[in-house]
Amino acid sequence: MTINKASTRAAFLAIACVSTAPLVAQTVVKLPKNKYTPQQDVQLGREAAAEVRQQYPIIKDERIAGYLTAVGDRLVAAAPPELKQSVYEYSFTPVNLKEINAFALPGGPMFVQRGMFDAAAAEGEIAGVMAHELSHVLLRHGTANATKAENPWLQIGALAGQIGGAMMGGQMGSMIAQGSQFGLGTLLLRYSRDFEKQADLLGAQIMARAGYDPRALAHMFETIAQESKGSGGNPQWMSSHPDPGNRTVYINKEAALLTLASPADASQFEPIKSTFASLPAAKSMADLAKAKQAPSGEASHAVGNPAQPVARPSAQYHDISGGKVFQASVPADWTTIPSKSAIKVVPQNGYGELNGQTVFTYGIEFGIAKAESRDLQEATKVWLNAVAQGNPDLRLAGQQQAVRISQRSAIATPLVNPSPLGGQEHIGVYTTFLADGSLFYYLTIAQEKDAQAFQDTFRRIGESIRLTEVR
Ligand SMILES: [Zn+2]
Repeated sequence: MTINKASTRAAFLAIACVSTAPLVAQTVVKLPKNKYTPQQDVQLGREAAAEVRQQYPIIKDERIAGYLTAVGDRLVAAAPPELKQSVYEYSFTPVNLKEINAFALPGGPMFVQRGMFDAAAAEGEIAGVMAHELSHVLLRHGTANATKAENPWLQIGALAGQIGGAMMGGQMGSMIAQGSQFGLGTLLLRYSRDFEKQADLLGAQIMARAGYDPRALAHMFETIAQESKGSGGNPQWMSSHPDPGNRTVYINKEAALLTLASPADASQFEPIKSTFASLPAAKSMADLAKAKQAPSGEASHAVGNPAQPVARPSAQYHDISGGKVFQASVPADWTTIPSKSAIKVVPQNGYGELNGQTVFTYGIEFGIAKAESRDLQEATKVWLNAVAQGNPDLRLAGQQQAVRISQRSAIATPLVNPSPLGGQEHIGVYTTFLADGSLFYYLTIAQEKDAQAFQDTFRRIGESIRLTEVR
């Protein structure tokens, strides 16, 4: 057989092109679905930033603020032009808080906490976290969360042939850690693992174009993970930026695909670090929470310490009543915490402060909500949507079921959610109508490991409920 050298060579080249092209290209990061306008991002972010500035100890030192802005501007300049909306208002603000954390609000305002500087070994690590945050802004993940929160039933519902699947939180879901001290926080700042990975990849690409080695981002995440083990808890960063897993591997892989621009001048990093020494001591989130103590004072009703184990429910029961609306029988050793529209009844260590956040990890909550429909299924769905506050990992844990509350038709919705204690928590939501057409609900919560042990207790409480409203 005669081999035509020229054509063999051409074929080889063609193969080489085909097989290497997908390998050398950087990962394409796409904008998620979003029903808001960039202008609305800016508006939301502006409002939330004003609250942050009021409640957080902002560092006014001009050297530190100027340094942060210089790094931030460099990253913005390196960001993909097609993602940079002209309406965005970027700002980079240092905060005198101990925790290793940084966050960015929709439309551009970014806050970097002192703890992050303390933990960073090089400028590239600060720049990495900032590039990650900037990516959340450019990909509009806050309002994409909100978009998801308002349509949580569509995707899963269509698949399962029923309504289902949700993300929620808010007043009903005070079992879910308040992601931050300000109202918009949980909605705008708790990202899904998928969004985290997208922000990591785009962040790595922005870093490379700004002259920072993206591998510094992977290193910073390792430090954060290390520190969070040390503090024995679930620090702020981890609760709003859940680890998608394999972070170091995929960031380094992406880094290998990127061309590094000429290195950024990082000579200011060490002098800036020492400038922090001249500031007042950093506060902790717990200091802030203590200073705050909301007038409604829910946190002041803490029942023990959520980090401590919870005892099995007592076999002794006693009756409680929720105004003229209901009565129920609950374990005698549980504590009742009334608030405006709901009553929680919790075992010792089932509700309180954890890492500066108020968490509800065990117990039951009874409440009343406005119903938006006369159809129970629809009203339940709308209500779950309305209280949605961006806990994107909350999931339907099984089929919804027709049940009874005080002999009335009711719906039971089983859910699971990542717990502020680590692992999963099991949540049961039960809804029925009151005579005036409003929605009565109760909600049970226990950590996965204890879900079995609390099951009978929750059933017994549920069966004891008597709706006593005067018709
Ligand atoms: Zn993130």
